[in-house]
Amino acid sequence: MGVTHVRAARRIAFAGMTAAALVGTSLAGASSALAMGGGVTGHQTAGPQERQASVCIEPPRVGFAGAIRDIDDPTAAQEIAQQDSLLQALQQRAGLYTPLRVPGRPNELHASFPTGSVTVPVYVHDIYDPADPSTKLSFSQIVGQIALLNRAFAGGGPSAPTAFKFDFRNPFNPNLYVADAELFQAPVDGDLVREAKQRLHVGGMNALNLYYSQARQTQGEPLLGQATYPTNDNLPQDGVIDAYDSIAGARGGTMDGDTVVHEVGHWLGLYHTFENGCAAPGDYVEDTPPEAWAAQGCPEEFGLHNYMDYVDDGCMDRFTPGQAQRMADSWAGFRMPVPNGS
Ligand SMILES: [Zn+2]
Repeated sequence: MGVTHVRAARRIAFAGMTAAALVGTSLAGASSALAMGGGVTGHQTAGPQERQASVCIEPPRVGFAGAIRDIDDPTAAQEIAQQDSLLQALQQRAGLYTPLRVPGRPNELHASFPTGSVTVPVYVHDIYDPADPSTKLSFSQIVGQIALLNRAFAGGGPSAPTAFKFDFRNPFNPNLYVADAELFQAPVDGDLVREAKQRLHVGGMNALNLYYSQARQTQGEPLLGQATYPTNDNLPQDGVIDAYDSIAGARGGTMDGDTVVHEVGHWLGLYHTFENGCAAPGDYVEDTPPEAWAAQGCPEEFGLHNYMDYVDDGCMDRFTPGQAQRMADSWAGFRMPVPNGS
């Protein structure tokens, strides 16, 4: 009841704007205006007509043959709290980044970073079963995943460019390989993994700690990955866990390695595109298509081929300008290193 009430209240607040105002001042529309001022994207976004044509999409239910992708859906109440934290953090740090303002939303700040101007240090921890060499990633497979991450976040084709580049810091990571059969099989949300992260984590909130393991839930169901959000306040637990067999070429060539892009999207503040179904505020990004539930397989609607949906690896190929903006905002609010400490 409490959660339902909170969601309804937020929906009313959002719906308080007229439909025309919502279209005219959506962040999607705003980000192209912002881009002209040196914003994160230089990308023409969907115009008002396209937004008005956006109806609630009900993706075909095709069943799901593989592992479920992750367990990264916060409750509606947690999302509202995260959103409030983000807006507050952007206000508090306004002197540390180039602020952008959206016409008609005087209290809303956004952050501008030129495309590719933010370098994220990446520390990989490959946890494998020493009795089964096939569970250990080769150095070139790890480098390949970082390259894939860089290609995805650079944008191009249908995907918006983002602020982010990823720099593999392996030479500074003494724990690249962790031979531990028990830890390899341990649930991602259990004590064993918690203790391991405490021991292995490197760097600050700006550093991406990327773990590879079998990636299971407590009940044993396999996952493709798991991530912490930028609002995470427990630094050693911060990071992304991906299934070792989610990398490009794994599972008989059915995986393209995009799990890491999806999970790093969460790490930079993105929700699933189907978050809250078609009810506002959805995924808190206004240029992703309203979607009743997760898309699977590879639906015909190109708008659903988003890195933050549940479509097949070979199908997901895009971030929207609004998602690029939200990741820039999350970086400015929570992950960007602050001169002279916090
Ligand atoms: Zn996810």
